[in-house]
Amino acid sequence: MIKHNIKSEVVGVDISNELTTYAIVDVRGNIIAEDSFPTCDYPDVNNFVSALSDNILMLVEANGGYEKIRSIGMSSPSASSVSGCIENAANLPWKGVVPLAAMLRDRIGLAVGLSNDAHISALGEYAFGCAHGMKNFIVISLGVGIGSCFFSDGQEHRGQGGYAGEFGHICVYPEGRQCGCGNKGCLEAYVGAKGIVQTARELMAESDAPSLMRNLEKLSPRTIKECCDQGDEMAIEVFRRTGRILGQGLATYASLVDPEAIILTGGISHAGHWLVDSAEVMFEKMVYGNLKHKVKIIISSFNDRERDVLGASALAWSVPEYSLFK
Ligand SMILES: [Zn+2]
Repeated sequence: MIKHNIKSEVVGVDISNELTTYAIVDVRGNIIAEDSFPTCDYPDVNNFVSALSDNILMLVEANGGYEKIRSIGMSSPSASSVSGCIENAANLPWKGVVPLAAMLRDRIGLAVGLSNDAHISALGEYAFGCAHGMKNFIVISLGVGIGSCFFSDGQEHRGQGGYAGEFGHICVYPEGRQCGCGNKGCLEAYVGAKGIVQTARELMAESDAPSLMRNLEKLSPRTIKECCDQGDEMAIEVFRRTGRILGQGLATYASLVDPEAIILTGGISHAGHWLVDSAEVMFEKMVYGNLKHKVKIIISSFNDRERDVLGASALAWSVPEYSLFK
């Protein structure tokens, strides 16, 4: 009798500028074991790959062994799924072009897939979340940066170099606010975390009206949202303005892509209806006529880390199997 070695698990890795999280995930999306370490402890990428490899192997050995693991999927900012490299990441310790997928594969002896965090978010929603069963949808990550990914006929659109979906850097105000990317008037400069804080500062400067925001030690989308929850009219106006600009951008995006749904994820999506109500009004006003009242705008039900680890695991299943130890 031939004994088949069925590999029923993969490892999903989520790299952010703060934390690298890695998890063993089974074929049904159950997280079997998970751990993490601070990314910035490893300013040299060679040391990072060694530590990541050692940590993954320790977790795997403690949870059923190496033989069950089929492959590894990784999520990182500024990663190209086409090249398998992290390319000029603004918010990671490693500069230039880093062939991270090949480095980890050589070290650990298993197939490794790498893609950027926006693609991975969308894969997570598609495999295990709100987009399950959808063929055409957009996932928008709302955080410090604004990323996106869209699926067309069940396939993610990656673009020629793997850079598709830079929704944060479409222009919403010609000659508007300076954006971190070097251009002016980008959506991210209004809807990203820093942009929201700037809007709050502008509103406070526009009038002497009282606001709980004036007493905050730290202005952030989260603390502004907490002021909204307490009925603070000026804080509510911050998200109303932000939502209008987001809705305008989403209308443009949807008019091009014709999606079934737009799924909002990331820290700023936790502003919930304070943000989405005005975004929806603007969206319905500006979207192409045939799409009016047809596109669902949904807030993701995952927490961010869970979604990215699961998305990375979905990527792991898509890379061709490879092992040094067969
Ligand atoms: Zn920009």
